Amino acid sequence: MRLAVAGLLALVTFATAAAADTPYRQRVEGDFQAWLATEAYAAASAAGVSRRVFETTLAGVTLDWDLSDLQPPGVEVERREFPWQAEFRNPAGYFSEKRLNDLAVHGRRHLKRWQDTLAAIEARYGVPAETIVAIWGRESSFGMRLPENAIRAIATQAFMGRRSKMYRAELPAALKIVQDGDIAASAMMSSWAGAMGQPQFLPTLYHHYAVDFDGDGRRDIWNSVPDSLASIANFLRSEGWRPERGWGLEVRLPTTIACTAAGPEQGRPMADWAAAGVTPVDGSPFPVRPGRDGFLFLPAGRAGPAFIVTENFYTLKRYNFSDNYALYIGHLSDRLKNAGAFAGGWRAETGLTRGDVRRLQEHLETLGYDVGGADGLVGFKTRIAIGAWQIATGRAPTCFPDRALIASVP
Ligand code: CA
Repeated sequence: MRLAVAGLLALVTFATAAAADTPYRQRVEGDFQAWLATEAYAAASAAGVSRRVFETTLAGVTLDWDLSDLQPPGVEVERREFPWQAEFRNPAGYFSEKRLNDLAVHGRRHLKRWQDTLAAIEARYGVPAETIVAIWGRESSFGMRLPENAIRAIATQAFMGRRSKMYRAELPAALKIVQDGDIAASAMMSSWAGAMGQPQFLPTLYHHYAVDFDGDGRRDIWNSVPDSLASIANFLRSEGWRPERGWGLEVRLPTTIACTAAGPEQGRPMADWAAAGVTPVDGSPFPVRPGRDGFLFLPAGRAGPAFIVTENFYTLKRYNFSDNYALYIGHLSDRLKNAGAFAGGWRAETGLTRGDVRRLQEHLETLGYDVGGADGLVGFKTRIAIGAWQIATGRAPTCFPDRALIASVP
């Protein structure tokens, strides 16, 4: 089934013959050098980067043809439509118990090793040590060495990345870091996508949020653990983290509460959730704080684990725009405090494809439901729309796609 949909992610693969074509590559490398000397220099200069820093930093830098997400000029590319045939990614796979347990075991060691630093960071920024260490572990496996040089990766992405427009602001920002003397360009390591150092900041984020916490005068998120941990905390605090709230908690949900009551647009005071019979799975008293909203979060619908999350959960989402990421960090931070695995079971993989999910979404749209865009992903709007449709058609609401539901789409 091939459908024309705007905004498709084009997966780009290069014809092997063209990729190995040396005259072609030489020509593109030449275009790259010409682009550096003109457009890239003009942008860097406008951002306050000196000619000397620009030239010395980019001297000898060539394109990295092995990075992901490239779209080189003039190459015959095979554009595949969105992978609608790919298996729909159920949250069960994301929360691999083995990976979570590994991160918790190593994370507890790091918590102990860096406890004085983390206590000082928590005192300044109000972000708990466990939350910072959870992000550090998830982002860079506690500071593991990164594979790429940030200048080369970002220059390549800015010149011929699929998202080159976004990276054109990142190259001047990266050069500015070198000019400020925080790190030598050769030691500025990143992911293939230019996410730098232990907190995985793009250069523009670095300028906003990186801090010098060890007091050596340099904001070194590559080699300094105190700088890296404080930079993560500074990001969260600046993006709205409030110390008086946790991120949320796993709960047992009485059957009287429908799954359609979930999502960030239906916050209710914690006291209301408690009064409605919601109870923490660990048997502790419900943390009722006046005036603080809680949000029901059901990542796998009614049959999966249930959570009441706070506004801090949505701050965690600022680090990486995904509900499952925010839950991963929240849950891992609890594990670092010796909490156990999820109490609720994740459903087994359903074997649905993203095309199946999109077909269901498109059907719901024709019925007037808001699914947040028919993209084959199951966000909170799609979950609520499924639940509302199930109720309207006399089914028990699960707020999650399954084979029987897909089969009932005309
Ligand atoms: Ca420092």
